[in-house]
Amino acid sequence: MKYEAVIGLEVHVELSTKTKIFCSCTTEFGGEPNTHVCPVCLGLPGTLPVLNKKVVEFAVKAGIALNCEIAQFSKLDRKNYFYPDLPKAYQISQYDLPLCKNGYVEIETSEGKKKIGLTRLHIEEDAGKLMHENLEGSLVDYNRTGVPLAEIVSEPDIRTPEEAYEYLTKLKSILEYCEVSDCKMQEGSLRVDTNISMRPVGAKEFGTKTELKNLNSFKAVQRSLEYEIKRQTKVLEEGGSITQETRRWNDQKGITEIMRSKEEANDYRYFPDPDLVPIIITNEWKEEIEKSLPEMPHHKKERFISQYGIPEYDANVITSSKALAGFFEKCVMEYSSAKTVSNWVMGEMMRLLKETGVDIEDVPIKPHQMAVLLKLIDNGTITGTIAKTVFEEMFNTGKDPEKIVEEKGLKQMDNEDELREIAVRIIKENPKSVEDFKNGKDKAIGYLVGQVMKATKGKANPQIVNNILREELVK
Ligand SMILES: [Zn+2]
Repeated sequence: MKYEAVIGLEVHVELSTKTKIFCSCTTEFGGEPNTHVCPVCLGLPGTLPVLNKKVVEFAVKAGIALNCEIAQFSKLDRKNYFYPDLPKAYQISQYDLPLCKNGYVEIETSEGKKKIGLTRLHIEEDAGKLMHENLEGSLVDYNRTGVPLAEIVSEPDIRTPEEAYEYLTKLKSILEYCEVSDCKMQEGSLRVDTNISMRPVGAKEFGTKTELKNLNSFKAVQRSLEYEIKRQTKVLEEGGSITQETRRWNDQKGITEIMRSKEEANDYRYFPDPDLVPIIITNEWKEEIEKSLPEMPHHKKERFISQYGIPEYDANVITSSKALAGFFEKCVMEYSSAKTVSNWVMGEMMRLLKETGVDIEDVPIKPHQMAVLLKLIDNGTITGTIAKTVFEEMFNTGKDPEKIVEEKGLKQMDNEDELREIAVRIIKENPKSVEDFKNGKDKAIGYLVGQVMKATKGKANPQIVNNILREELVK
């Protein structure tokens, strides 16, 4: 029997308002433990929460960008459970009337475009953080308590780990474009829980699912789902059954491990929070928020294709990040060959971002410097090969390209006498290639050019080298 996976994702994203959801404490990341707190976010008796209007605005903004219906009437509920990082023993969240529902995210798959449905987007407060240090007990830091969260729940529309990865990447990019969250996973601004079950292909009913909590990278989501698909399929094929349970992902071992089994659904005894009034969103307010939305990735992509004439593939890659798209567009303002810029952004820039793990926001290269670098290639000051070295130095230090070229003596060699001397030597050293060339193998010259480039550490003007070699070889 062939099985297919049914995957649903829950994403918690911290909204980047300056202050917390129910008090005026800062939402800033870090800080000495328990310094970003007040009686309200600690839930001390007698305190009253006051809803931060910006939180609603940010959530509605995200909801509109995610094609959701925005509720005109919505309320906040208490979700009761006891946990040491939750000082009130209840979390203020939304139960039956979320702020946004029925949205979707469109992703590209190998079989074309696909819409992943969004069940809901609601707001809630974040909990604190337990620290299990080398002590006899655990410590708790309440700085994060009361930081506003949007919880985004997808429909079980995802079928493969790749689709899950695409969905998360797209979702993150939309949230970044809206500027409602910085989505920094390493700081916990974006956390992912997954649900996964297997069912025979063609079946309508869902199988028993397992849950994976707090995955801290999209790669981890993808890998853990791949693992669960294999594990669950094997159990089913051997005639066993899946237990409903929460599992954790062990990234080092590359496996999922049982955390706790869920005997039955938790009873949170939700009820409307009596301290907070319902949220009313008027049409005027909604329209105002809608107008404040910036250009979304798919619009930007279409515009880049038509305005700059770059291929759809390039436009897709570049607009996947708002910062990358901004960098590209500023470069193009100073250097008109958009395709050249896009090649560099997709090639060298993305390679270094991947290798170093640096955020594009933290790369010190200014678009102006990038344009200057490309002009240095065009006017023959440096070769394309050398430009890559210069770019890497710019990436690491933020220095001007001219300065790097000067300091490191990277100017292109175009002195014919000098190059001829090297070319003659290379010809002597490579009799086999010379013979090949004379026997009509024109490709052999490429090898010789390569040898001259190597001898000059990439600085020789390849066109001049080519001409000299051809002259010398027919002598
Ligand atoms: Zn507070």
